[in-house]
Amino acid sequence: MEKESPNGPKPNSAWFAKKLAHWQDRLGLGGWLIGHKIVRGKKIYDEERKITTLGRVTHHYPSAQAVIEFMRPDDLEVEDWIFNYSAKYETIYEVALVHELLHLLFVPIVDLDWSEGMKADEERIVETVARVLVLGRVGN
Ligand SMILES: [Zn+2]
Repeated sequence: MEKESPNGPKPNSAWFAKKLAHWQDRLGLGGWLIGHKIVRGKKIYDEERKITTLGRVTHHYPSAQAVIEFMRPDDLEVEDWIFNYSAKYETIYEVALVHELLHLLFVPIVDLDWSEGMKADEERIVETVARVLVLGRVGN
């Protein structure tokens, strides 16, 4: 199926703050101080993986502080998003938000020396769980 443009309202900063508080609580991440930023699409380019991502989390584990950057919804292009059906902007970004929070949940057991294969496994697991939590299913 060909990808269609996302539809529905575009999430703004207030929407991200509300969803962040909701999912931070649901995932038991209340001990973290987590901020968010909305950034231009090109700023969120992942040099290592050669892809533009919807979200990216940076953290400092000892102080339990993190910032999640989201690609500005206006910069989202059809090829950037992962669903192959017409999806709402809010759904796409809620999965991205939960995905980044799950990375935080895994921080205590993730090793920086992991092989590329193990990093890819973490990505797959995080995305699977994010989809099940938000969409109630893994596939499209
Ligand atoms: Zn990820």
